[in-house]
Amino acid sequence: MIPFVDLKAQYKSIQTEIDTAINNVINENAFISGNYAAQFEKDFAHFLGVKNCISCANGTDSIEILLKAMGIGNNDEVLVPAVSWISTSEAVSSVGAKPIFVDIDNDYYTIDLDKIEAKINPRTKAIIPVHLYGQPVNMERLMLIAKKHQLKVLEDCAQAHGAEFNKKKIGTFGDCASFSFYPGKNLGAYGDAGAMATNNDELAKTAKMIANHGQEGKHNHLIEGRNSRMDGLQAAILSVKLNYLNYWTNQRIKNAEIYDSLLKNTTLQLPSTLNNGKHVYHLYVIRHKKRDEIKSALNDNEIDSAIHYPTALPFLNCYKSYNHKLSDFPVASQFQKEILSIPMFPELDIKRIDQISKVIKNVIL
Ligand SMILES: *Cc1c(COP(=O)(O)O)cnc(C)c1O
Repeated sequence: MIPFVDLKAQYKSIQTEIDTAINNVINENAFISGNYAAQFEKDFAHFLGVKNCISCANGTDSIEILLKAMGIGNNDEVLVPAVSWISTSEAVSSVGAKPIFVDIDNDYYTIDLDKIEAKINPRTKAIIPVHLYGQPVNMERLMLIAKKHQLKVLEDCAQAHGAEFNKKKIGTFGDCASFSFYPGKNLGAYGDAGAMATNNDELAKTAKMIANHGQEGKHNHLIEGRNSRMDGLQAAILSVKLNYLNYWTNQRIKNAEIYDSLLKNTTLQLPSTLNNGKHVYHLYVIRHKKRDEIKSALNDNEIDSAIHYPTALPFLNCYKSYNHKLSDFPVASQFQKEILSIPMFPELDIKRIDQISKVIKNVIL
């Protein structure tokens, strides 16, 4: 049996440190926000090289809170890629704005930079590029488009902790960035957790206030906010795990290289890496017309796989009223039929990668 991810193997590799961290939080009753959250915020801001990091409850809240903090709401439009996890567009609707979908690039699977400007109108207020699967968006080009049209940029970095464009970490290009620490993400907590990052002190202050009932200091509620705080256990666990993130990322990249070498020169479309980009392989996504056959062959051989995502955002039931046609998003509509995410995690080894690759090649050769 080869799992899709193996969080248990990762825990075993750092068990003593994690257990100590958990015990400390409980002994100190530092359950909500508190010292451990403050420490993780410092650690993660340092990792990114950004001035402010604000912890919160999850990566969906962080997008929503940042949009609110930037004043985006009713009658505004926000551009999002046609392929992402639903949080990206859901957060836009949650603040009262409208998500406008842009098709993805056929090679890199992130928002197609050539198709952005056609979707801009006077109601457009922001763009949310998603560094999907760990692949960085060309943020230098995206920022030029945003500047030209005076749009805010919120980077959705939920799948790309540590990814870089031109040697600069993603999450540091736009006005602000959102991170998720859902357990299966490249940096994962042992429950839900998220964070916001920005070099803008004013925006950081507002976001922090919104995430904690609109308070500036205790009982001074300047606005109505919400309850979206990171709990101390998650923060302490994340501070331990952050020390290993670079090592784990390198292991992911090594594993991707092994897959690349074993699966190249076939009819499969393998992940491309952007020039000057550092892909951190949250997922290793292959593309083939025989996707369903490959998936069932893997299943027959007790190898887990998954589809991210079976239905592109514009075609989800919840967006039916938008009346999007398949032909409005030619890349995304073809893509959703062909993609397959195969096992990818730092602890995966060459023997299992070889086994997986053989099963796949047997179907397509
Ligand atoms: C996981 C994810 C989120 C949301 O994170 P949660 O912590 O699960 O709320 C947002 N955007 C993308 C692209 C994601 O993959």
